[in-house]
Amino acid sequence: MRDYIPYGRQNVDEEDIDAVVKVLRSNWWTQGPTVSQFEEAVASYCGAKYAVAACNATAALHMACLALEVGTNDIVWTSPNTFLASANCARFCGADVDFVDIDPKTYNMSIEKLEEKLLLAKSQGKLPKVVIPVHFSGQSCDMAAIKRLADKYNFSIIEDASHCIGGEYMDEKIGSCRYSDITIFSFHPVKIIATAEGGMALTNSSKLSSRMQLYRSHGMTRDKNIITPPDDAGEWYYEQVALGYNYRITDIQCALGISQLKKIDKFVEERRNIVSKYNELLKDLPLILPQEIGSSNSAWHLYVVQIDPQKTNKTRLEIFNKLKAANIGVNVHYIPVYLQPYYKQLGFVEGYCPNSEVYYSRAITLPLFPGLTDTDIEYIVESLKKAVI
Ligand SMILES: *Cc1c(COP(=O)(O)O)cnc(C)c1O
Repeated sequence: MRDYIPYGRQNVDEEDIDAVVKVLRSNWWTQGPTVSQFEEAVASYCGAKYAVAACNATAALHMACLALEVGTNDIVWTSPNTFLASANCARFCGADVDFVDIDPKTYNMSIEKLEEKLLLAKSQGKLPKVVIPVHFSGQSCDMAAIKRLADKYNFSIIEDASHCIGGEYMDEKIGSCRYSDITIFSFHPVKIIATAEGGMALTNSSKLSSRMQLYRSHGMTRDKNIITPPDDAGEWYYEQVALGYNYRITDIQCALGISQLKKIDKFVEERRNIVSKYNELLKDLPLILPQEIGSSNSAWHLYVVQIDPQKTNKTRLEIFNKLKAANIGVNVHYIPVYLQPYYKQLGFVEGYCPNSEVYYSRAITLPLFPGLTDTDIEYIVESLKKAVI
């Protein structure tokens, strides 16, 4: 039996390991200079003014919602085709969550559905305070269109770009925040660059950046622009001005992040090459292959194929199980979030976002990560051929 091939994994080298060991030998394991170095490196790579690193992207999404003052009487919209955290972050703030169905070509939030839903919501007085588009599989949503709607209907935008640091939209790096208030990245090992656990929020607003810093660390501050210490207070003095959390990332993780960031373009290029090979080798199978739209340079976090029910009688489950039996770590991204028991109990029902449900019923994620060899790819393709025909 061949070694197990996961659907995604980190790519680590001696430089990464040396960078981590260097911080381990230093005084600063957390709240030290390596955190801001990582923040500055990512902000400058993406062309954004500010970056706030966090212990994971879920925490960063929560900080972003808090910074935009999402609360109990607010509504937040996101895509159903995403990981739970894109919706949960709004629930953490007590807000109501709703879902906008996906575009059947890109699997991203549909602009037409968003516009229809906004029109209806306006007539009902239920417009969202924040919309969280998710750049599924590494390909950007149509951010210019979403921004036009944001200006018209007066909502803020958090891009959940967990899949796509290194990707581009209209010749600019995702994370520039040209069309959004805040952009979130994840550095989980299956994502484009990894810090084990880790995430980051980017913004061009100094106000949002300082609010996120506040929420990252217990809502406490020593900033004299925010607080006026009493006369007998020394340098030790701080005040808690909001209810914050401990969402900090360590310097150890950030050292890994800085080292990984140096290789990001190489990682994305390698992902792109693997995708070209898959596209070529799979084109005659009864599958619907992923499409890249013109304005986008995907970071290719995921390679998802849909089983084409017009062309094969095999079910997704049969194909999935055959690949698993061949020791291939296929996966499925994503079960529509509102079908989770937690969201169903809030009133969501099957059929709510039909495009998302049809897509989900046919999708399989194939392995994709830098380091996946040509032999692996051929083996995966051969196994898939046997499974679908
Ligand atoms: C991975 C992921 C997250 C959560 O990231 P963590 O760093 O694991 O918290 C959020 N949204 C999407 C779309 C993701 O893929």
